[in-house]
Amino acid sequence: MDAMEAITKLTDSELITALKELVGHSNQLTAELLRHLAEVEQRRLHLEAACSSMHVYCTEVLGFDDATAYNRIYVARLARRFPIVFDVLAQGRVHLTGLRLLAPHITEDNVAELLEAAAGKTKRQIEKLIAERAPKPDVPDRVRKRPQPARPAACSGTCSPQPTLGGEVGTVGSRSERTDSDARPAMATAAPDSTSAAAHVAVIEPVPPSNAPSSNVTPSAVAESVEPRSADRYKIEFTGSAEVVDRLARVQALMAHREPGCGFEVVVGQALELLEAKLLKERFGVGAKPRQARPRRRTNSANNTTRHVPRAVRREVYERDGLRCAFIDPESARRCGEVAVELQHHRPYALGGEHSTANVSLFCKTHNAHAARKDFGEAHIEAAVERQRGRRAARKARQSAAPQQPAVARSTAETRPTAAAQLGLFGS
Ligand SMILES: [Zn+2]
Repeated sequence: MDAMEAITKLTDSELITALKELVGHSNQLTAELLRHLAEVEQRRLHLEAACSSMHVYCTEVLGFDDATAYNRIYVARLARRFPIVFDVLAQGRVHLTGLRLLAPHITEDNVAELLEAAAGKTKRQIEKLIAERAPKPDVPDRVRKRPQPARPAACSGTCSPQPTLGGEVGTVGSRSERTDSDARPAMATAAPDSTSAAAHVAVIEPVPPSNAPSSNVTPSAVAESVEPRSADRYKIEFTGSAEVVDRLARVQALMAHREPGCGFEVVVGQALELLEAKLLKERFGVGAKPRQARPRRRTNSANNTTRHVPRAVRREVYERDGLRCAFIDPESARRCGEVAVELQHHRPYALGGEHSTANVSLFCKTHNAHAARKDFGEAHIEAAVERQRGRRAARKARQSAAPQQPAVARSTAETRPTAAAQLGLFGS
């Protein structure tokens, strides 16, 4: 019996126990590895190995990837100054990335307290902890032109470059006469920041043009990001189309009559407030007026109800669960708590489960799909996914062949119960 086969024969409980033991060993091994790295650097053995730096030694002799090498060297140096770091790492109380983020902020006076505060926290939570202790000022509003991706085939010489907008600060109202070469990416122009959090952000800021030799970051690595700046202030980044930028400028101009000089925060904040209210009304009936009962559609023979979860139930479930996933691990009592919008029937509707607040909860997409797989089996789900794909493809074909329908026509379908909403039709 090979190792993998032995693992497949473990019970769930045995598997989790074995995994946790391995994590413990791994943490101890990492701490031990860092002790050795620190000593190698102390003795300058990497120089004897014809490497100009520890980073070169770690990547070219030890075979670490760049990020792993950076984290390990950085934390090994920290641990030489504060040996308690080795213990914290060995016990798995703070992970390597967290220690790397904390390193610039650790002093003789705060080392024990700061490590205690970071114990058990995720990377994101540690970033927030640091932002609370070492707040940074708000960043100015700005819109920057990103380097053009490869020109699509359909854009044969007729697409003009997006305008460079607004300079560095303030509104987006005026189009500049800058040329492409002026629209430098942030990575090239941003002032160096000594904090590790800033180093992380640099990766996801706009990428240099493809001919820049210094970066191997691809456009696909650029994503939305939210970076804590202080206790309750965040820097938000995303990439948008020229249409989004133009709309932002128009709304900002329209709002100027009400709130002169308002920035992106006010514009986006109020726009989101309006959109959230609209979506909550559509999906959960929040703020909607009571309406007349309509004729019943397809019914469940077991309890003679339609698939449509009544608005009153949806609203009560929303008010109870608060858009947070209600999936709970019975052993640890841990609640998932991710943002959740899927209505999940604990006893599936297809098996006679009723539409009631006792039987329906809000689950995140992942737990919604997980529950559907447990209730109906993998094969049933895969078949349903295939049918869903087929219907989507047919709908897309119809839409491309016919004129666009008004958006309002979609609202009914969007408020249907969605046992595994992304999977479609498994009555939950
Ligand atoms: Zn969940």
